[in-house]
Amino acid sequence: MVPLPYAPRPEQGEALASWIARLAACNYVSTDEFWTWLGFEPEIDLMPSRILFRRLSDISGIQALSLSARFTAKIPKENAVQRSMPTGVRGGACPQCCYIRHRDGLSHFTHEAAISSFRVTCPVHKRRLVALEGYGVELAGSVTRFSQRPGGALGELGRYASSPGRLELKMESALSRVVRGQSPGGGWRTNDRNVFAACVDCLVDVVLWRGPEGTFASTFDDTKRGGTGTFYITPSREPVGVEVFQRLPAPTKLNTISGLAALMADPKVPPRPGSRTMRFRVDFRGDPIASLVRSLHWSQNDLLLQRLQDWPECIAAPFRAEICRA
Ligand SMILES: [Zn+2]
Repeated sequence: MVPLPYAPRPEQGEALASWIARLAACNYVSTDEFWTWLGFEPEIDLMPSRILFRRLSDISGIQALSLSARFTAKIPKENAVQRSMPTGVRGGACPQCCYIRHRDGLSHFTHEAAISSFRVTCPVHKRRLVALEGYGVELAGSVTRFSQRPGGALGELGRYASSPGRLELKMESALSRVVRGQSPGGGWRTNDRNVFAACVDCLVDVVLWRGPEGTFASTFDDTKRGGTGTFYITPSREPVGVEVFQRLPAPTKLNTISGLAALMADPKVPPRPGSRTMRFRVDFRGDPIASLVRSLHWSQNDLLLQRLQDWPECIAAPFRAEICRA
């Protein structure tokens, strides 16, 4: 492939999809057109191939090996959560980071903070990362900006700049640690990383099952922002949740993490999910496992009871007790 007339270098910590979107903008084509020209589907940024790195090397003049080292997450694959992780690094944009970069005359980019697909907030500002569906990359002078309409750059209006609650942030860092092969830390039903990963693997599915009143995850919808739509998984014999999770839109991911946090929190440790800047659809008090079991159809509870045989005991036992009570 021919070298591009202008190819900005990736920023420190930039995600692959973000860099490609900026390459496109700097050469006056849309991101979709650019991916088509490269000969790949955009989803490949989750599992970037050697051929993709070779093409990017041809057009940017940066060595393929150096691109591969920069954009490929190194994650040990010891448990289900780790194995399900994409190798590519995909990030969301932090409105506050964007605001600061814009103020300082620098390009917007999405951060590789999402080395784990479970990362939904900026590690610096703890703000919710914004997925870039619906945003374009706009060339403003010599810098690129994410914008929803010409001149309306992300971060300018302070939209979406909310922080999740303390328990969600704690679950997010626990998941990031588990993905890296470390212990999730204290305050959960288990502090063993493999057991924790196995629990998440089981729970992520059920949190996204649709009962008569929606999913357990949607209980944590931030209604101030109009909710997150109706994503759900049809209950089946085989769990599929973790694979589905990595492709969820950012707000549904955050709801799912809130649900996981509520279910995995050590019941002896009081904090419940909640945030000063978010307003949930349900005022969440009481036992989360009881709420989840009550929210499901009886046939789903039957399936759940069968599934519990494969679950770690620390989470299977309270679920079993609750289903028998229901
Ligand atoms: Zn930030």
